[in-house]
Amino acid sequence: MNILVTGGAGYVGSHAARWLLRAGHEIWVYDNLSRGHREAVVPDRLIEGELADTAKLAGAMVDKQIDAVMHFAAFALVGESVADPALYYRNNVLGSLSLLDAMRASDVRRIVFSSTTATYGEPEKMPIREDFPQKPINPYGFSKLVVEHALADYAAAYGLGYAALRYFNAAGASPDGDLGEDHEPESHLIPIVLQVALGQREKITIFGEDYPTPDGTCIRDYVHVDDLAAAHLAALDRLQDGVGMKLNLGTGRGTSVREVIEACRRVTGHAIPVAIGERRPGDPPELVADASLARETLGWTPKYGEIGPIVETAWRWHRDHPRGYAIA
Ligand code: UDP
Repeated sequence: MNILVTGGAGYVGSHAARWLLRAGHEIWVYDNLSRGHREAVVPDRLIEGELADTAKLAGAMVDKQIDAVMHFAAFALVGESVADPALYYRNNVLGSLSLLDAMRASDVRRIVFSSTTATYGEPEKMPIREDFPQKPINPYGFSKLVVEHALADYAAAYGLGYAALRYFNAAGASPDGDLGEDHEPESHLIPIVLQVALGQREKITIFGEDYPTPDGTCIRDYVHVDDLAAAHLAALDRLQDGVGMKLNLGTGRGTSVREVIEACRRVTGHAIPVAIGERRPGDPPELVADASLARETLGWTPKYGEIGPIVETAWRWHRDHPRGYAIA
């Protein structure tokens, strides 16, 4: 198939694009490089453009005879979305609507969409199932939920076939060391801890150790970025006109902040000094997926079920690319 990958220069999108190529698909990455990296895109496959540019998107879809879209392009930082919601509603909501308009104009009827655990807010029970209420607690979560609703409505009215894949905590890097996480500024736990191991930061500050969890720190479900990529390919194969799939992508295993730091100590051999800080606003104590629906629907089982091997791939990337793509 010919696939348009929006945000294919970003963290998850670049990994998925590589997997699509390996599976024999033709890909075109559509990205404005505002947060993505030119170096993460396969040469000669980049179309530089804005999501808001519906005409350019539609033109690219016709020109490249696109069969389906994988839509990664979005802003994805909770704190930033609280401080500057306009950025999130404009980019994530209006950008996605522009993309959907372009798809309708060029008769492209299939899309795999990057959704998020943040659409659930603070669920009362764990693990999280897809039929739990979606009650986001920040603009980022709302911006993704609005698009999920649009997809469902477009499926019913216009026959769109879609998958909304709700990622838990994307982590790790391509095991061949070519692709990895490179955000500026970095706010995610594993890259920050590994930056401590590299001597780029003095210590890691744990955001709260008084949560109602066994060691007092927050529990998350870390899922390897290559496992996310594999799930996207499986979803693509199963898209059907007028039908929507809404699936959690997680391992079903929870890991606390302290356990992540401990895994990083083991993998890097560095002591990794720790400080205890305040809770970060909007951080639920625990977010763990019930991943059984993705397994049943897609035949997808994450290859990386534990934090250690995930951190090993991330460490290889950060050690070999201490400045990310800047010196790649
Ligand atoms: N965290 C932390 N210190 C940091 C960054 C993150 O203690 O410097 C914690 C954060 O509170 C959360 C977990 O690590 O419980 C994962 O945070 P991250 O930002 O990586 O992902 P999120 O869960 O926000 O998507």
